[in-house]
Amino acid sequence: MFVHEFLRATQRCGYGLRTGRSASGYLRRALAIDHSNDRTKAFGWNNLALTEGRRGRAEAALQHHRRALAIARRLRSPSAVRTVLLRVGETSLRIGRPAEDDFRQALRLARDARYPMHEALALDGLAHATGELGYWREALAIFTDLGVAQADLVRRHLADPAGRWCDLCPATAPVAVAVAGPVGVR
Ligand SMILES: [Zn+2]
Repeated sequence: MFVHEFLRATQRCGYGLRTGRSASGYLRRALAIDHSNDRTKAFGWNNLALTEGRRGRAEAALQHHRRALAIARRLRSPSAVRTVLLRVGETSLRIGRPAEDDFRQALRLARDARYPMHEALALDGLAHATGELGYWREALAIFTDLGVAQADLVRRHLADPAGRWCDLCPATAPVAVAVAGPVGVR
């Protein structure tokens, strides 16, 4: 698997990615999936999935996210599962696939664990998935409380919810594509 993925990554770097920085980023992500630490491996697949999603490769992205989620669940690591679910939601928004369930699961787990950063990220995702501004208001309260930069981004969304400046917002998302099977649902 390692050699296969490495070659694929190298090939992609040759023609697909524009800058050396993103090429090395891709390689780094590809290498992480063969790491001996399963947590690192799960995040490696998850990040590789994000990269594929950003490049519009929906099937590959969802396949990699499924692997990441399976590893995270096998590890029985709630924080790893939440991290993967949040990213599954992000990819889903990006490729025009329903994302609400992924973010709802992440939100439930974040609240169970009392982990406000993930709670706010899940709320931001839910706002994107449903268009309900109330989720952004909830997210803003938490981000502000935490004193993190994400608060500004949410403020910008609330000030201009129909804006076309965010690549995850419905206004700029691609038309839904037919991709089989849920990722985040057990
Ligand atoms: Zn947005």
